[in-house]
Amino acid sequence: MADSPDIIVGIDLGTTNSLVAICDERGPRVLNDADGQALVPSVVRYEDGRTIVGRVAKEQAAEFPTTTISSVKRLMGRSLKDAQNDLAYLSYRVVAGERDTARVAMPRAGREPLLISPEEVSAAVLRRLKEIATAALGREVTRAVVTVPAYFDDAQRQATRIAGRLAGLDVVRIVPEPTAAALAYGIGLGRAAARNQKESAVVVYDLGGGTFDVSVLKLTPGSDESEPFFFQVMATSGDTHLGGDDIDHVLVGLLRRGLGIEDDAELSASMRRRLLSLAEQAKIELSDSDTARVRIEMEQGGEKEVVITRAELETIAAPFIDQTIRSCEAAVRDALGKPLAELRAGPVPAIDAVVLVGGSTRMPLVRRRVAELFGLEPYIALDPDRVVALGAAVQAAVLGGQAKGTLLLDVIPLSLGIETVGGAVAKIIARNTMVPIKATEMFSTSVDGQTSIRLTVFQGEREMAADCRKLGEFHLRGLPPMPAGVPQAEVQFLIDANGVLNVSAVERRSGKRASLQVVPNHGLTQEEVDRIERESLVHAREDMTRHRIVDLIANGKLDLKWVGDALGRVQGELPGDVRASVETAMTNLRELITAAESDWRVVDATALHRAKEALDRASVPVHEVAIAHSLRGTQAPRQ
Ligand code: AMP
Repeated sequence: MADSPDIIVGIDLGTTNSLVAICDERGPRVLNDADGQALVPSVVRYEDGRTIVGRVAKEQAAEFPTTTISSVKRLMGRSLKDAQNDLAYLSYRVVAGERDTARVAMPRAGREPLLISPEEVSAAVLRRLKEIATAALGREVTRAVVTVPAYFDDAQRQATRIAGRLAGLDVVRIVPEPTAAALAYGIGLGRAAARNQKESAVVVYDLGGGTFDVSVLKLTPGSDESEPFFFQVMATSGDTHLGGDDIDHVLVGLLRRGLGIEDDAELSASMRRRLLSLAEQAKIELSDSDTARVRIEMEQGGEKEVVITRAELETIAAPFIDQTIRSCEAAVRDALGKPLAELRAGPVPAIDAVVLVGGSTRMPLVRRRVAELFGLEPYIALDPDRVVALGAAVQAAVLGGQAKGTLLLDVIPLSLGIETVGGAVAKIIARNTMVPIKATEMFSTSVDGQTSIRLTVFQGEREMAADCRKLGEFHLRGLPPMPAGVPQAEVQFLIDANGVLNVSAVERRSGKRASLQVVPNHGLTQEEVDRIERESLVHAREDMTRHRIVDLIANGKLDLKWVGDALGRVQGELPGDVRASVETAMTNLRELITAAESDWRVVDATALHRAKEALDRASVPVHEVAIAHSLRGTQAPRQ
């Protein structure tokens, strides 16, 4: 818990950004600075004995290229010779220090450059994170779990420890980044996983701005209750110079050609910088939309617009993603001794989960290709920029003995469902159901010609959505227009052994699909679960009635619409008394619905139910005539 005496924080000390997180009874969460920002750019500027760290240093980097240090992680614990390939990517000078270790050479007016170790630069970032944690928690933080890439060797890990010490932090454990990512999802912590007590493998795919890593972890059953499994990194692969930035650069070419500029040499440096930033924005936009309109201010004045489609972006990105896929195949072969295709054909799944890390994994293309490769829906519920820090915090809580307070997943503590028309919740998985579990339910539309269905996922025991906890929402889009109630959306809830919920929806006629993934237990404490349960008992009777009325209103409205439409088509063919009794039944039902919509308490559910049934009965002749009517126009089959 946040106020226990020996709090340990989790730190993701990244190449471009760093974060600090804690894990308390609500689960893991990232800590923000006073401006509400969690991400601290891993950028440090040295100026007259002062150090400027983070956002400000990053924003002013172009102004101070030789005194601003970024990506220092690439130099940690390495000799100048080892770091040679990275130097081209750094804007500052790097020289050999004692025992050939890489040192940053900071220029000083009229004096020899000042040599700064990468550990000192990282310590400046860690000090900033320590300050943020101390301010956020209201107490001095002195212990941390810090993550490093899985491929870091002893010297690089040692350098990370030293950086911690220089920042006044006792680094209680160094954890590989992929292990942290897996822990953030609770992999290996749930009792459900422990029940199976089998070895399994987890793949962590990490595509950032400038680096790509894939790791295969083996989960081995442990002996301790609090840590039922432990992880071992079996293999890693990747490319330390491959990422979203590469896609941005190729996209600049597309923008340039869109402007009618054939030759790259014709671009001024400032124009190229501007295009690069616009390219990145367009790429990010295309993760959510099918087209991006890029407006470019021209140097000679005026503005031009270039439209980029997601398909164009995906064509550009494909070769880079292909390369990551080949790395995944190589890592799996190294770790498990067999090609992935052979493992996938086997009787038992060789890979239990795939976790996505890094900003570039928000690209739909990446998610699709990874899902296809492994034949598994990857874990994307947690923010891919935060998942490593969150996992470091989970490891910290396990070490500090605080993980016991968190909800270890064995059963679903609260029911899960979808909001229906009128604001009630259709429960799909009841509380106390054991995981893993799968359940499905059909939904439809309430308005004619609706081309999208919004699906909102709620957690809780009350009947109305407003009294439950919203977990997320998504849209099933692109449906062909159909009358209300005709589309058939099959919604599936699937909770795996780690407690990750995948909600997917498919509309049967059009085949359109959409999905959402969440970790329902994050942010929930046992106390809250108990309170929610107590409240649901108090409101049980009232809630049930309200839910019933809300459903009757929705169904009654559909009936009124169907009967009204049919009546309109066949009125002339109906005897007057039939028409009159249908109209009376419709008026009765409509009046009750109107009253119930203004205040559900004033209407008796049974009366509403009877009025609906009365209309159903009265309208039988209408439907009969309507069916005969529609058949008349059709040809009879040949005898
Ligand atoms: P990281 O190194 O993990 O911080 O990832 C940064 C990279 O992720 C950059 O190349 C960003 O352009 C990219 N990125 C961030 N958000 C998105 C998004 N929504 N869609 C595609 N790429 C993104």
